[in-house]
Amino acid sequence: MTDESKNKVDMNEIVSLCKRRGIIFPSSEIYGGLGSTWDYGPLGVELKRNVKDAWWKAVVQEREDMVGLDAAILMHPKTWEASGHLESFTDPLVECRFCNQRFRADQIWRVEFVGQDGKPVHRTTLGTSQKEVIESFREEARRHQPNGLFSVKGLTELTEEDYRTLRCPSCDSVDSLTKSRMFNLMFKTFMGPVEDEASQIYLRPETAQGIFVNFENVLNSSRRKMPFGIAQIGKSFRNEITPGNFTFRSREFEQMEIEYFVKPGTDEEQLKSWVEERFQWYINLGIKRENLRIRPHGKEELAHYAKACYDIEYSFPMGWSELEGIANRSDYDLKQHTQYSGRDLSYFDEETGERYVPYVIEPSGGVDRAILAFLVDAYYQEEVRGETRVILRLHKALAPVKVAVLPLSRNEKLLPMSQEVYKSLKRHWMVSYDDAQSIGRRYRRQDEIGTPLCVTIDFQSLEDKAVTIRDRDSMEQIRVRVEELKDVLHQKLSEE
Ligand code: ATP
Repeated sequence: MTDESKNKVDMNEIVSLCKRRGIIFPSSEIYGGLGSTWDYGPLGVELKRNVKDAWWKAVVQEREDMVGLDAAILMHPKTWEASGHLESFTDPLVECRFCNQRFRADQIWRVEFVGQDGKPVHRTTLGTSQKEVIESFREEARRHQPNGLFSVKGLTELTEEDYRTLRCPSCDSVDSLTKSRMFNLMFKTFMGPVEDEASQIYLRPETAQGIFVNFENVLNSSRRKMPFGIAQIGKSFRNEITPGNFTFRSREFEQMEIEYFVKPGTDEEQLKSWVEERFQWYINLGIKRENLRIRPHGKEELAHYAKACYDIEYSFPMGWSELEGIANRSDYDLKQHTQYSGRDLSYFDEETGERYVPYVIEPSGGVDRAILAFLVDAYYQEEVRGETRVILRLHKALAPVKVAVLPLSRNEKLLPMSQEVYKSLKRHWMVSYDDAQSIGRRYRRQDEIGTPLCVTIDFQSLEDKAVTIRDRDSMEQIRVRVEELKDVLHQKLSEE
């Protein structure tokens, strides 16, 4: 597959590869699945660990101004009052009175064309933006009218009369959609044995607040000076109205978040520098530049706490969508928590004698969305000697299995040496051992999961104590002495 045809990667191919090879499964599948949560299988869990490790290495280990944190998912309910989530973490919802399906009101559109007979034709469709809907109907509108005249309106722009002509996007009933109401996305539960209002708590919808409420603890215990940041990876939960597009939008997911505290006045410059750094992180891990873009938020789009925000977007099979958001949260959160907790969350600068409430730059990415982008970007199909080879060209740091040890056949004579090589390499990397079926099929199996290197032991190996290393991308093979094998593999795995 060439780069131009890359955008044609079908999400179904990725979903099916993930299921077939134990990367990602629908959660509780034997009960029909939950539809909005996913389980990472034996290879997926390695991939996920590698993505998180690469992030941690870049934002904590290699920087001098960052520390880590692992805060609890269940937090004091006042947290969510202070953060504004109780009041504002909502999406507009409409429901079909017939099939009870729920939709995000801002994703329903009424499209109107001039039909062949000159009379208006209308459709109800789902789409994340007006632009996307216009694009998807352009062709059809042209077929009816050469000048392609048509209108696309969101629910808030419709007259009462037009609203009644809408069809349910799921069951197609006419005039069945309720009026839009605000729906809070936080999952509620109860803490302790009594299920009353006083014991009601929430599953965190973002990891960020765990960082803000620990600002003072981290500052006092690690004697940090401004600017400095706290990084955290952890689960978040959102009762999304329309989960979908595989793991892109689920109700339980993992976030990788940084709250970077800066002196007010330096915030704009720091925001710019984080946007560049985070963009580069994806490129360094192999994502093609043309599949990434930075999109500044318009004023009307900004969250209640944000002064400015940039999204890093990836060209997913369903279109350009957010991979990570980098926001300037100003001093909103620390001030709110000061007000609600009564604790002074300001910072005293000993050098200048100034006291201020720091501003916060927040690069906030999703582990699952990053994994999905890495998978989509690495997915290729190639014709090799009349056969289709599926290959995941994952960055070596991300590949779930680094090396596969493949004895040429199951012949007993090859077993001791093959096992010895396997066991010695296993101490250094995730290594798999495969002796089932032909060597060609075994190479294909490794290509499909992105294993960068295969080591083959053949009969000659017993004589000359040398093995063959085969490269996933170039399919080139080199012969290496067993005593040098570890060093050669190490060098190859650290090459960019
Ligand atoms: P969206 O606009 O797509 O709903 P958001 O702007 O609400 O996302 P943020 O609150 O900025 O998302 O969350 C930070 C990151 O967490 C997102 O960039 C994304 O990678 C991830 N994320 C957010 N919601 C989900 C979800 N429902 N499923 C998977 N990942 C998510």
